[in-house]
Amino acid sequence: MIKANNPKLTSWVEVGKDSDFPIQNLPFGVFKTNNAGPRVCTRIGDYIVDLYTLSNVGLLEGLDIKKSVFLNKTINKLISLGKEKTSQLRERLSDILNKEPNRWQGIKTATDFLRPVSSVELLLPLKIGDYTDFYSSIEHATNVGMMFRDPENALLPNWRHLPVGYHGRASSIVVSGTPIHRPKGQMMPKGADNPVFGPCRLLDFELEMAFVVGKPTSLGQTIPIEEAEDYIFGMMLFNDWSARDIQKWEYVPLGPFLGKNFGSTVSPWVVTLEALEPFRVAGPVQDPEVLPYLRSKGEKNYDIQLEVNIQPEGSAGKVVSRSNFKYMYWNMCQQLAHHTVNGCNVNIGDLCASGTISGPTPDSYGSMLEISWAGSKTIEMPDGSERKFLKDGDTVTMKGWGEKDGVRIGFGEASGKILPAL
Ligand code: CA
Repeated sequence: MIKANNPKLTSWVEVGKDSDFPIQNLPFGVFKTNNAGPRVCTRIGDYIVDLYTLSNVGLLEGLDIKKSVFLNKTINKLISLGKEKTSQLRERLSDILNKEPNRWQGIKTATDFLRPVSSVELLLPLKIGDYTDFYSSIEHATNVGMMFRDPENALLPNWRHLPVGYHGRASSIVVSGTPIHRPKGQMMPKGADNPVFGPCRLLDFELEMAFVVGKPTSLGQTIPIEEAEDYIFGMMLFNDWSARDIQKWEYVPLGPFLGKNFGSTVSPWVVTLEALEPFRVAGPVQDPEVLPYLRSKGEKNYDIQLEVNIQPEGSAGKVVSRSNFKYMYWNMCQQLAHHTVNGCNVNIGDLCASGTISGPTPDSYGSMLEISWAGSKTIEMPDGSERKFLKDGDTVTMKGWGEKDGVRIGFGEASGKILPAL
């Protein structure tokens, strides 16, 4: 077992029972305040740990990590040091925050590296060069295929043979808390002869997770599936906001475009693959057997519970979906092996999103498109209003966490409020 993952560890910083951030998590993010930062940080309980200050007071001595690495508006530089060093850093942070007496004893007095998370602004922690969105949930792909094409042949012939994906837009990925304006665009209303232009009427979320590329490749290089994990640094929650009416009219024949690239929301913390180790599970059986370059061995899925809450303006919210990352048909290693099989290069900080994570039952569907079954069903909200798709003023909040041996490792939240079209 990785030392920092030991479920018996506890911290001298108080961590609530339901917190996503016990001492076993130690994710990486970036914060700033009016007079400090941006700087790289980790999180424990309701506090952020300022790694630059830790380094400044000598607590990271011996790790061979320059303190300038932490004086950055992204964690790309930290990731570029390699997993061996970031792993050692995590071990050290675990030692420093550990309740048990150890060689860092006495540092409780030097707590100016701790700040309440409520007193800082958390930033998008990555410089995302490229973003790819996959379509790897068989339940989601089947549901969408049934609604839009043919219920008898919901999955297209390629679907079980390769992880379908498209290249998205990195410029519009924002951190949790950033509002999203309802997009405008071209749509073809049902029964109309000509398209119309205006604010999207069928605005939706997509419940996804994304992995962060942690090691670059050069053009022409392919990542073998058995090495793919070395190239994955960690994971985040991902909301792929979608304008269904714009999407439906524009997507033929080249796929998603303006119905998708007006905004995507990520959680502010990158949870390392290392911290997620306890939640490994086997994925679903793949039938038919995939080509050799996509055959992965061992437990490559992760048992991460997910939920989506919609909160209308001025009202209580409601959980509209409870799903799990373990349902993915194609795992992250397969996605990365496929992505690079043609020699396409990847860079540190690139994001690859999973595709909407729907489970087998209607309460686990990961988009309003599926929950309302293309608008044929309504969801009642606590304020008495009804939803088929999202309304202006709605705040959509996604959460995710794994739980094992009394330890909960979570991602915080990916939250965004819908503002009226500009
Ligand atoms: Ca998507």
